[in-house]
Amino acid sequence: MPATHRLTAPAPGWTTTTDVVVVGSGVAGLTVALNVREAGLRAVVVTKAMLDDGSTRWAQGGIAAALGEGDTPEQHLDDTLVAGAGLCDEEAVRTLVTEGPEAVRHLIATGAAFDRGDDGEILLTREGGHHRRRIAHAGGDATGAEISRALVTAVRSDPGLELIEHALVLDLLTDAAGHAAGLTLHVMGEGQRDGVGAIRARAVVLATGGMGQVFSATTNPAVSTGDGVALALRAGAEVTDLEFVQFHPTVLWLGPEAEGQQPLVSEAVRGEGAHLVDATGTRFMLGQHELAELAPRDIVAKAITRQMQLRGTEHMYLDGRHFGAEMWEQRFPTILASCRAHGIDPVTEPIPVAPAAHYASGGVRTDLSGRTTVPGLYACGEVACTGVHGANRLASNSLLEGLVFAERIAADLTARHRADDLPERSVDVAAARAAHPVPLPAPEARAEVQRLMSRGAGVLRSAASMADAAAGLTLLAEQAVAHVVEEKPADPRVETWEAANLLLVATALVAAAAQRAETRGCHWREDFPERDDAHWQRHLILTLTASGDPVSTPEEQ
Ligand SMILES: Cc1cc2nc3c(=O)[nH]c(=O)nc-3n(C[C@H](O)[C@H](O)[C@H](O)COP(=O)(O)OP(=O)(O)OC[C@H]3O[C@@H](n4cnc5c(N)ncnc54)[C@H](O)[C@@H]3O)c2cc1C
Repeated sequence: MPATHRLTAPAPGWTTTTDVVVVGSGVAGLTVALNVREAGLRAVVVTKAMLDDGSTRWAQGGIAAALGEGDTPEQHLDDTLVAGAGLCDEEAVRTLVTEGPEAVRHLIATGAAFDRGDDGEILLTREGGHHRRRIAHAGGDATGAEISRALVTAVRSDPGLELIEHALVLDLLTDAAGHAAGLTLHVMGEGQRDGVGAIRARAVVLATGGMGQVFSATTNPAVSTGDGVALALRAGAEVTDLEFVQFHPTVLWLGPEAEGQQPLVSEAVRGEGAHLVDATGTRFMLGQHELAELAPRDIVAKAITRQMQLRGTEHMYLDGRHFGAEMWEQRFPTILASCRAHGIDPVTEPIPVAPAAHYASGGVRTDLSGRTTVPGLYACGEVACTGVHGANRLASNSLLEGLVFAERIAADLTARHRADDLPERSVDVAAARAAHPVPLPAPEARAEVQRLMSRGAGVLRSAASMADAAAGLTLLAEQAVAHVVEEKPADPRVETWEAANLLLVATALVAAAAQRAETRGCHWREDFPERDDAHWQRHLILTLTASGDPVSTPEEQ
């Protein structure tokens, strides 16, 4: 089925052709690109800002894999299933944990240097929900930066791989049979290719990362606006589990007015023994869970939020003073520097922390080869929902998921290529023109979406809070339509395209969260405080109606 909707944008003024076009240059996108190049396919990577401007470079804690002595994929599987609260796809998790160690070794072979002990073995730490030390890290707490550095270096040294930076991908193009045939994009700045253009390709891979910017306070960078999910919905793909947004429990609290990306205080700080305390210094996680501060993230985020409500405060504290200056400097140099830059010295004082939007467990629905429900359209990394995370991601499983499923996509494309099953595609230009142009909201809608979502669909949710959010989002969509009718439409440009994507993703997220009348994983309903397996041990599938509204349908049980 061709896309019924597209972003309002000028017609493409230029076209280029490749075999595989990859959208996004984080761990997932660059891993796909490197692997399909090895198979001899031509590839183009398109990325919204610079190559390293995604969540990947911000990852601190590390990457989980059963690499340690005595650890096994089976134990990693058990911990992942527990965190996922009954909604993980066990086959997907098994794939992740069994292929994970090898994928990490590939990453090391690509050039990523992990921290090692005097014996040369990779050092492993623990994080929430893991019963073993199985988190490999680099540069102390700069794991993502090292992974990004290694992958960017590798792609830059392949002259056959085309890299298009500062380019916002808009929509999918398909052929007459509904198979992905390329995409439209807008290249910012001056150069050979400027403005809106098209890339024709035999397959399209979405690796656009998360959607944290849907909320006011998030650990995600500015590029994480859910573009891939919005594009997939407009292209007719199924999206699932959007209601499961992980709020990281310990984000540096910078004051009530702080907006956008906030500094993270990694779980690994608790893994090494820092305590969560209230203003009186009392450890409130003791007695709440057998793992105390290392309980799964949703439990810790909820406990902090409960304490904040109970005490009428806007944050709690993370106390790592007992580490001493040397350990802070060696083990957590990035976090130490970022706290000090904001006037907090973790060596001498507890760190003020509060939960903020961190990770999208849901996304574009894929099978184990990363194939979405639109033929030829693949997704991996945070934009995808492979079924690995269920209702809640286990800490440090996301970099691993990006790696493992990117490799699987590349393997699928390689196999298709070798079997002559990856032919050139002709874009169905008439269908692309016929798709309904989505009216663009004003750029200010971004902040309004964020406010509505944080207030109505954040850590605490109820039918009433989400009805308020939904009403506000509908109003924003109506205003965009009204501006078109009044012949004063918002200009098609990066800010308005991103606002349109945020609005669509937020509306879809609220539709699913309002429908899921239970508390499960990181979805916390104040009006339905219990998990309800009888009705809700199933996924909600989101698609767009003919009029462009997201509709959420429970999967058959
Ligand atoms: C502060 C922080 C700490 C974290 N710590 C950890 C950790 O310790 N361990 C762990 O496993 N996970 C961690 N995570 C999560 C993990 O980093 C991400 O889930 C993972 O890096 C996502 O990788 P990705 O390749 O899917 O997306 P990203 O790395 O986010 O890359 C997405 C790419 O898509 C591009 N893009 C987006 N939209 C468009 C568009 N329309 N057109 C063109 N390009 C586009 C972006 O510019 C970017 O290049 C952390 C996340 C954050 C924010």
